[in-house]
Amino acid sequence: MTTYPLYLDGQFVASEPARAIVNPATAEPFARVCTTDRARLAVAIQDADRAFRQWRRLPGKARGAFLHAVADRLEARRDDIGRAITMENGKPLAQSLGEVAMSVDHLRWFAEEARRAYGRVVPHQVDGKRHLVIKAPMGVVGAISPWNFPLVLALRKAAPALAAGCTVVLKPASQTPVCALLLAECVHDAGLPAGVFQVVVGPSAAFGDEFLANPLCRKITFTGSTEVGRVLVQGAAAAIKPLSLELGGHAPVLVFADADLDVAVEGTLIAKFRNTGQSCIAANRVLVERPIYERFLEAFVARTRQLKVGDGLEPGVDIGPLVDEAGLQKAAEHVQDAVARGARLLCGGRRVPGRPGYFFEPTVLADVRPDSACMSEETFAPIAPVCAFDGEGEAIAQANASIYGLSAYAFTRDLSRAFRVMEALEAGTIGINDGVPSTSQCPFGGMKQSGWGRELGLEGLDAFLDTKHVSLGVDVEPRG
Ligand code: NAP
Repeated sequence: MTTYPLYLDGQFVASEPARAIVNPATAEPFARVCTTDRARLAVAIQDADRAFRQWRRLPGKARGAFLHAVADRLEARRDDIGRAITMENGKPLAQSLGEVAMSVDHLRWFAEEARRAYGRVVPHQVDGKRHLVIKAPMGVVGAISPWNFPLVLALRKAAPALAAGCTVVLKPASQTPVCALLLAECVHDAGLPAGVFQVVVGPSAAFGDEFLANPLCRKITFTGSTEVGRVLVQGAAAAIKPLSLELGGHAPVLVFADADLDVAVEGTLIAKFRNTGQSCIAANRVLVERPIYERFLEAFVARTRQLKVGDGLEPGVDIGPLVDEAGLQKAAEHVQDAVARGARLLCGGRRVPGRPGYFFEPTVLADVRPDSACMSEETFAPIAPVCAFDGEGEAIAQANASIYGLSAYAFTRDLSRAFRVMEALEAGTIGINDGVPSTSQCPFGGMKQSGWGRELGLEGLDAFLDTKHVSLGVDVEPRG
């Protein structure tokens, strides 16, 4: 079994103790990863600060060239890194390869954006003054990433931060550190200077506290649960530490009677079941206009029954395991709760019998009551709760009745309705007739308790830049 070392100040460090990483398809360990402690993280932050002084001075184009070189190495190693994502996270291999491809695209997008950290010249109000707005990298960034998209979400932080001229200490999730360490190998092979990008694995709360308390760490960027986001917000108060927060979601899907039914069924299927339902933008509530409610259910259940469940390394698999036993338990509880409150169970509903690992059957529930747990809590499982609505006003009200505001979907062929709905929905990302809306060049992030700030797009780079106004007194009297 391979033991992966940490990546600290340009060296692969085999620190102790090593931790076993479990394959959720077998519930067996398949790799070991070294760990370290808070004191070593403090040293890593110091090294990152030293590296920052040189890295920030490189022209954006030169930093971009390094990012392209990392992307080249990721692309060359797509098969083994894709396999590692499936082994540690469980998602089907085709989706893992898609995650590698999207990671490469993020790197290349920010490699180009590195040259576009534009400031501006602002017209003056007083003669003898000139005004410049300039951008400066913030410094050392503490990046904390989750297990559900272990590579791409780490890069949504690292790529723009590095492009901006910051240095990064990445703390991946405990369940999925392997692909972060494979990314470190790509960074190393691409020749990035020591200390510019580092990966630490260890106690999450202590690491969070170090990022918060250490004055050399100038920004924390976090993707994970709203609960941990709240802990970071509280901790950030003491030092007024800047935070970017990508937190939980509870996406509604609105299917209007005028929708193309096939497009709506396929779009909802992918929005719900991609990554086995363990996505922050997963469809959590499917709301269907009453005239097509039964027809939608019939078609959606038929397609759900076709989904192939299995180990993500087997060919043709659509649904892998959940990440751990706790995920399975939550899924079963959400089904039992919804059924106890009157929902109809149309398919699935239980742990897949007779196989090891954490597999849950793709599940459709109809007539789900609004007070059911799955209608307000993130399910993070392949469970689709469906219910009927009457009219656009009711659909919007139900869609917005959530503490979250990360993403939302609507299916309609009426252009005016599409505009009314996109303007009314309280969500940072909206898919209209589209179940996979995220892309490198557009901002991604949440409203309400889904977070602060945006990743990707132009906004993704700006999140790691300070803005300075320089007021310049000049002698403007003509000479000679
Ligand atoms: P999580 O439990 O909040 O963990 C996320 C990361 O935070 C992990 O690296 C974890 O480390 C670390 N962490 C835990 N406690 C911490 C603390 N006190 N201080 C600092 N770091 C701490 O979330 P998860 O279960 O991994 O991920 C699922 C959640 O992420 C869902 O709510 C999902 O919606 C959300 N998510 C949001 C987005 C988005 O873009 N908005 C994208 C993906 C996922 P350990 O694993 O070592 O404990």
